Amino acid sequence: MSANFGNNHGQNQNREDFAVGTFKAIRIDKAEKGTTAALTQFDEAELMDGDVTVRVEWSTLNYKDGLAVTGKAPVVRRFPMIAGIDFSGTVEQSSNPAWKAGDKVIATGWGMGETHLGAYAEKARVKGDWLVKLPEGMSTRDAMSIGTAGYTAMLSVMALQKHGLTPSDGPMVVTGAAGGVGSVAVALLSRLGFHVIASTGRVAEADYLKKLGAHEIIDRNELSAPAKPLAKERWAGGVDSVGSTTLANLLSMTKYRGAIAACGLAAGMDLPSSVAPFILRGVCLLGIDSVMCPIELRKQAWARLASELDHRKLSEITQEIGLTDVIEAGAKILAGQVRGRIVVKIL
Ligand code: NDP
Repeated sequence: MSANFGNNHGQNQNREDFAVGTFKAIRIDKAEKGTTAALTQFDEAELMDGDVTVRVEWSTLNYKDGLAVTGKAPVVRRFPMIAGIDFSGTVEQSSNPAWKAGDKVIATGWGMGETHLGAYAEKARVKGDWLVKLPEGMSTRDAMSIGTAGYTAMLSVMALQKHGLTPSDGPMVVTGAAGGVGSVAVALLSRLGFHVIASTGRVAEADYLKKLGAHEIIDRNELSAPAKPLAKERWAGGVDSVGSTTLANLLSMTKYRGAIAACGLAAGMDLPSSVAPFILRGVCLLGIDSVMCPIELRKQAWARLASELDHRKLSEITQEIGLTDVIEAGAKILAGQVRGRIVVKIL
């Protein structure tokens, strides 16, 4: 993928005159109209408070990063901002007793790339309490191949299991299946023995989804019309990264006492549903937030990702880009043109 810096999102690329005490970063600034994004040099003195400084090795491209670098939605709430909501890397300096130089770490969310300087940078300074130790046997690249999307998929699976769902209860549906959250959710659920129904707008990706473990592929149009209060019961549960009428249809088609983990809004923030699935079928809607998720749950999620996500499948869903490609790729993820996961090589 090559970058196209046709507008003011991308000025100052490839500057040769890197000053001492600066590092490469994708910087977002406020403009007269909206924001600008550019790969440039960032002054180390401008780093925000934190007790651990990390040499960032890998980041990734999430839907929210697409919104930030294109300025399509006001996710950035502090300027200047370094975009990027997650990273993996090596601790360079720490005054936090939990961490020392050389430790390999993962950070996701906590407002990085929104209110705290983020991940598309050679350096990040954060609170040590935000960090998760890189699981044994996982590389920093693997960690970002999973990234916020994959970790959110795992949080969703954990919520469905906590609800008590097992493969004998019936199939699991995954929406936005060819996207980042969806791809990992398909792989995780099939590995756990569930019959996985993958809903996608890209039926041409059927082979990709089947290789990940999907048993059935359905066209997302089946779930996009206005939902009936109750429809034929089709699944025991599911992971929804789409929202809007899709989530409403998922709920109306969920079996008695089933549950849907709602984590995304790729089709919209609204939920044109009724209370019928809740009060007549005892269906539960499980809300998934990865950003402020408590650290203990994060540790559990990453430990499970390390042992339950097939490495071969992970490499099949991953493409690699550099910092110079991020802005263009950000527009593509918003257009639904990114399959699986994108890792961003920082160093
Ligand atoms: P991706 O863009 O990789 O995946 C989203 C997928 O949704 C697309 O690939 C597409 O799948 C489907 N989709 C896109 N537009 C539409 C549409 N208009 N109608 C129906 N389906 C659509 O993004 P991510 O996987 O990174 O994120 C998915 C969602 O989850 C986003 O809304 C993101 O903000 C949210 N999210 C939330 C988190 C949380 O903490 N709650 C954390 C991470 C992500 P297909 O082509 O298969 O149809």
